[in-house]
Amino acid sequence: MATTVAERKLLLGGEWIETGEWVEVRSPYSGELVARVAKGGADETRRAVDAAERTMREPLPAHKRAEILVKVAGALGRRHDEVARTISEEAGKPMKAARVEARRAMSTYTFAAVEARKLAGEMVPMDASQAGEGKLAFTLRRPIGIVGGISPFNFPLNLVAHKLAPALAAGCAVVLKPASQTPLSALLLAELEEEAGLPAGWLSVVVGKASEIGDVLIEDERVAALTFTGSGPVGWKLRERAPKKRVNLELGNATPVVIEADADLDAAAQAMAANAFAFAGQSCISVQRIYIRRDAYDSFLERFLPRVEALKIGDPADEETDVGPLIDEDAHTRILEWIGETKGRVLTGGEATDEGLIKPTVIAEPAPGDKVSSEEVFGPVCTVSPYDSLDQAIQLANSTRYGLQAGIFTTNIRTALEAAQTLEFGGVTINEGADRRAARRHRSLGGFRGTSLGGTDYVSPSPPELRKTLQARC
Ligand code: NAP
Repeated sequence: MATTVAERKLLLGGEWIETGEWVEVRSPYSGELVARVAKGGADETRRAVDAAERTMREPLPAHKRAEILVKVAGALGRRHDEVARTISEEAGKPMKAARVEARRAMSTYTFAAVEARKLAGEMVPMDASQAGEGKLAFTLRRPIGIVGGISPFNFPLNLVAHKLAPALAAGCAVVLKPASQTPLSALLLAELEEEAGLPAGWLSVVVGKASEIGDVLIEDERVAALTFTGSGPVGWKLRERAPKKRVNLELGNATPVVIEADADLDAAAQAMAANAFAFAGQSCISVQRIYIRRDAYDSFLERFLPRVEALKIGDPADEETDVGPLIDEDAHTRILEWIGETKGRVLTGGEATDEGLIKPTVIAEPAPGDKVSSEEVFGPVCTVSPYDSLDQAIQLANSTRYGLQAGIFTTNIRTALEAAQTLEFGGVTINEGADRRAARRHRSLGGFRGTSLGGTDYVSPSPPELRKTLQARC
């Protein structure tokens, strides 16, 4: 039974419960109270794991899992306005971007429903060795067990969907801990799963103190897999503390994009202006470092800067807004400090508007050690720097400890393929903003330089492959 919009209970083992304590969810734009959510902790998390263990004793058949997933996709479509508004209100995400996220979550559930019906083992070619001659062997794909999911604030619906939908497709119960700043979309999704027929115990959502809930998920041996999306330090610590579990980490990036002189500069400028500043740059694959061939540097800036300055900054509830607030005051202060410290030149932005929103900021030629180019900004800031050779551009792009996604704009196929091979990132986009991703099963097999893309593979066995995703606009 769902609670009211203003006060949300936790879903625990099939019951919506109050705990006597509350977490307040405030609008990052106005500071107003959006809702109060029941606050859970270690006890609630243990109860959720108990319920998950009980419920997994009676597996849900694939057709039932697929049916639930399809129904959730349908409900996300029917309740699109409510879903997008929930994302926007709790995360301060402009409605334009919130609508995109809500539609992506529909795809996530749809893909998961397809996967649920397709999960199958494979034949092992036994006669490949002499000892196997005359023998027959095949693998069975079995649910790995209870999945503990931990999600960040910036895609409060679709990154929760990335945890829940594939786990259900694989037949695993989930105990979810959404970000404390944005638990409402997760609770709404839980409500939709329940309405779609998910039996009690298959999903519990615990909102509250991260370390308390996290400790139970790490220490309880019944939780077989952890899927975490968030910042590097938290993610790596989780993995270190859970050596016996499968741990999928989706971490941060300082996304580079290389723009060659032969590229369509209008298209590149358009894509960069949109991708660097959507949701105020609070996306793991937000474009942050743009490297432009020196011959094309001025021409690119002539096209890029007016587009950045034309972005509409303001109220995320306004359907026309492009850039809204940052998630909280700490992020606001940190980013203004980083802009203040840079040795580069601020070409536009660099300050807050009268209503306190950081303007889309472009910084030319920062020093290599400047935080705006060496750390993940996670704000509406990007840098532009010229280069003289492709080798130099690749070297600059690779000079980071992150490795999630990168991009290149060029009309030369040889250059594009060379960059795809040498950019040391899990995904490389060609003539696209680097924020494009394919939400298919291969995402879970991606990963490069320690930044694995996770969340969709909970069946065992599955080889930890390293694969590169090449996405090109044809
Ligand atoms: P975060 O601070 O690391 O938080 C992520 C989640 O971890 C939240 O639910 C948080 O809970 C929880 N958490 C914090 N400390 C914990 C602990 N000790 N034990 C267990 N859980 C703990 O990240 P964020 O600021 O929400 O998100 C931004 C980061 O996520 C960026 O670095 C971004 O690049 C990354 N990200 C990556 C991807 C990707 O696909 N690779 C996608 C989106 C975001 P509380 O909210 O309660 O603190």
